Amino acid sequence: MRLQFYNTLAHQKEEFVPLRPNQVGMYTCGPTVYDYPSIGNMRAYVFADTLRRVLEFNGYKVKMVMNITDVGHLESDGDEGEDKMALTAQRERKSPWEIARFYANVFLQDMERLNIKKPSVLAWATEHIAEMIAMVQELLERGYAYETSDGIYFDISKYPEYGRLAGQKLEDRLAGARVEVNEEKRHPADFALWKKAPKEHIMQWPSPWGMGYPGWHIECSAMGRKYLGDLFDIHTGGADHIPVHHENEIAQTAACTGQPAARYWMHNEFLLIDGGKMSKSLGNVYTISDLMERGFEPLSYRYFCHNAHYRRQLNFTWAALEAAQKGLLSLRRLVQGSAKQPTGAGAAERAASFREDFLAAINDDLNLPKAIAVLWEASKANLGRELYELAREWDQVLALDLCTGAVEEDGPLAREDLPPEVRALVEERDAARAEKNWTKSDALRQQLQEMGYVVKDTPQGTEIKRA
Ligand code: AMP
Ligand code: ZN
Repeated sequence: MRLQFYNTLAHQKEEFVPLRPNQVGMYTCGPTVYDYPSIGNMRAYVFADTLRRVLEFNGYKVKMVMNITDVGHLESDGDEGEDKMALTAQRERKSPWEIARFYANVFLQDMERLNIKKPSVLAWATEHIAEMIAMVQELLERGYAYETSDGIYFDISKYPEYGRLAGQKLEDRLAGARVEVNEEKRHPADFALWKKAPKEHIMQWPSPWGMGYPGWHIECSAMGRKYLGDLFDIHTGGADHIPVHHENEIAQTAACTGQPAARYWMHNEFLLIDGGKMSKSLGNVYTISDLMERGFEPLSYRYFCHNAHYRRQLNFTWAALEAAQKGLLSLRRLVQGSAKQPTGAGAAERAASFREDFLAAINDDLNLPKAIAVLWEASKANLGRELYELAREWDQVLALDLCTGAVEEDGPLAREDLPPEVRALVEERDAARAEKNWTKSDALRQQLQEMGYVVKDTPQGTEIKRA
């Protein structure tokens, strides 16, 4: 079936055609490991993982590369401020290597909790300094870069297509940039490829330009090229990466290869908290562990993400997560309950039609909210065991542990909600217990169990639940 994605580079939805038949090369901008990953960050990886799963569901073999940024990402996405890794290292009085290991492990654990598959290649920036230096040299030789007293910069005026991704004209970018603090730069929007390190700088490597460290953007260009080649299929990241990080990445790679690194550039929109930005000062930067501490299952968050299209902002509230958890648990109960049922009459034909709807939804630019709606429809269509089969197939994309995960537990039933014959037995049992006739009360419990009810005597009285 036709597969379509919204390509930020083309500013429209396009049919997906891979470079090589049946194979897809995909690069996902990974985290900067200087802090706990927020649930906002994790939305970006749930999106990338879902994309990968949709491709695999369509029969493609996916090579997915993700970087771990452990050097060079400064406080602002431009070239200002300190290295984020160095700042945390100073604050926590640890080496940047320890900081990177620690937060990368937290990230990998959160990925696992959310059923995000491991990338085929996990590329650490500090292990690819040689490739980055080589690419900076290539840019200098090709005349796209120049040296100043504090580093090597990319000259955006040499790349006329600069701004294509964000839909900005180069002239506007050249005219509208902020007043620059670094007067040696030819243009304020020129960006650092390599920074020369002052003696006290915490992470530095030898280079043809003395000791220094790479710019953040060159990392992704160099690692993407190393593992996926000059041109690969898909590049993903959050929407905040469009105007700076990805624009710069395209410029660097295209200046070396003549190609914009990837053919399809895909971006997830932001997660908001209570309608606004997450921020440390507001104390609303939640992590997956925070959700778990409040009694939520991590996959409820994945389900919550699926209920909004990835190109729309998604507003997180605790009440919305609560509703998502309820929805997921009851979906699982319906699915798991169907495992032992016979196949309903005409179920196979109806299941085939649901299959088509599900595939059409995910293949239309990952319309997960629609796909979830199809699952709900199927769960109410008396398919019997077919529902279980559908859920097993679809969970390859949804990754919600539909067939194996915890289910919603039934609460105790009120006496007046019991069928009259069941209620009569319960009351008979109450009377037997009052007379301390344990033999009779046990026999009645057994009888109720055979009718599908569990009877439990608690200090608050007798509780009846469905088995
Ligand atoms: P960083 O570690 O800052 O490079 O961010 C890791 C990923 O998370 C990037 O793809 C960002 O675009 C993405 N991201 C950051 N904040 C949010 C958010 N609130 N919602 C969705 N994605 C986000
Ligand atoms: Zn990147």
